[in-house]
Amino acid sequence: MLRTHTCGELRISDVNKQTTLSGWVQRLRDKGSVLWIDLRDRYGITQLIFEEGKTEAALLASARSLGREYVIQVEGTVVERLSKNDKIATGDIEVKVTKLNILNAAKLPPFTIEDDTDGGDELRMKYRYLDLRRNPVRESLQLRHKMAQQTRAYLDSQNFIEVETPVLIKSTPEGARDFVVPSRIHHGEFYALPQSPQTFKQLLMVSGFDRYYQIVKCFRDEDLRADRQPEFTQIDCEMAFITQEDILNTFEGLIRHLFKNVKGIDIPSVPRMKYDEAMRLYGSDKPDTRFEMKFVEITELTKGKNFPVFESAELVVGISAKGCSEYTRKQIDELTEFVKRPQIGAKGLVYVQYRTDGSIKSSVDKFYSQDDLKVWAERFNAQPGDLILLLAGEKNATRKQLNELRLLMGERLGLRDKNKFSALWVLDFPLLEWNEETKRYHAMHHPFTSPKPEDIHLLDTKPGEVRANAYDMVINGTEVGGGSIRIHDRPTQSMMFTHLGFTEEEAKKQFGFLMEAFEYGAPPHGGIAFGFDRLCSIFGGADSIRDFIAFPKNNAGRDVMIDSPSTISQEQLNELALLIKK
Ligand code: ASP
Repeated sequence: MLRTHTCGELRISDVNKQTTLSGWVQRLRDKGSVLWIDLRDRYGITQLIFEEGKTEAALLASARSLGREYVIQVEGTVVERLSKNDKIATGDIEVKVTKLNILNAAKLPPFTIEDDTDGGDELRMKYRYLDLRRNPVRESLQLRHKMAQQTRAYLDSQNFIEVETPVLIKSTPEGARDFVVPSRIHHGEFYALPQSPQTFKQLLMVSGFDRYYQIVKCFRDEDLRADRQPEFTQIDCEMAFITQEDILNTFEGLIRHLFKNVKGIDIPSVPRMKYDEAMRLYGSDKPDTRFEMKFVEITELTKGKNFPVFESAELVVGISAKGCSEYTRKQIDELTEFVKRPQIGAKGLVYVQYRTDGSIKSSVDKFYSQDDLKVWAERFNAQPGDLILLLAGEKNATRKQLNELRLLMGERLGLRDKNKFSALWVLDFPLLEWNEETKRYHAMHHPFTSPKPEDIHLLDTKPGEVRANAYDMVINGTEVGGGSIRIHDRPTQSMMFTHLGFTEEEAKKQFGFLMEAFEYGAPPHGGIAFGFDRLCSIFGGADSIRDFIAFPKNNAGRDVMIDSPSTISQEQLNELALLIKK
């Protein structure tokens, strides 16, 4: 072995022991008579000491020749330190070196390997293997490892078995865009990489596997957005002979197990909210429930007073921000500018300041009396000191806009603490979603989700109102998982495809295998998939998923370290019978 101890291991109780350590040179401090080196490995840092007069001259000279990130091996004696460092676990001791072996020299790294590095994003990604030496990134991956271990432990304890499903599968138009892989043997034919193992896990239920899971890579060729990765990992699960209630309980169990065993936190049982209620109270199907600030609707209170904006509005709705009544004109203008940004799209913002002295001032004083405004304030349950912010217009659009404003106010009031966790089930999602571009309904979740039996009769007349047995888990305003109870019989599945605009031919061509399987004894089943990268980032209190992935792609979908995607040779193109348009 090139070491007897790691760099995070030695303590005061080891004083006088002989040790051999190996690692990277983090730092050299040369005081002339004394030279210290911080030696680093995955486990920590140990201080090495070389002293003029005491250390052999050649050894001292060799130590002085080291540079940052050299890989070395040292032998020496553990001694008690004169000035201790209580910030690191090995801070009571240092190693008096008697032998130094340079295992490999290193070029000066392009950025500092410190917790706070001077390296920009692109540079860190190009030299990701160096970036991974930094504590915060290493810790993020260790957290990920723990999450995966605990996920397996929990699911195993619940009788789930992990089954691998293929990566070269078949392209289907529903859902996101597929990544495709040309076949060399079958010219003009393509595999697709799975967007999820959805159909395979359902087939495993038909096979009788009963409880399946897989920590699995999925691929979606979607438009680039900040913090979206073209390949990502899911905890993918499916169960047979269950009701929705069983799924919710089982996976609430998983989340609570993870909080308990990874973070040592007992989270309360996960509350449930229907989709309609989430939209009404938060304007979002993934509300951040770390804080209240629920929407209050006052549409009917505002009518008949000749304020044209409210008069014509389908919905007048607002939030009350605690302790913000004394916001200055400038602060309120900023909020108005915020909601008027094109991404948000509100026409304006109405405010009501319930002053600390009990008086009320609003931007619509011309139209509404103090008494009118008092009634509004009561509806909001507002107290002196609060600021009511109101938006008006078409129902769905206005709710979405107010959601953005609520999140901003939550942020400003410090209510979105990364170390606080609030999980929520959102239930009863709509089955279908209207798509303006294609001018037809698409499955909101996917085409295998079952409609609520009591809503099936609406499929022809009011398809938008049909609810699904579909659920999402939300943590701190982020959707971390989603799933549904599936259709498990051929007639219902074919009817679903018809409603989604598939011809019988198309449905058969793309999903015939699944529908056929449903004719050979398919048990009732349902499942869920969690976005593993995102879940890890939430557990790690980070905004970005990037550092929870060892080798991520950048925001342009590139791996700048290996330089991919890249062109391939003419020979390869010929083999695949691919023509590149110049
Ligand atoms: N396959 C679905 C998804 O990737 C999850 C599920 O329904 O289980 O969103």
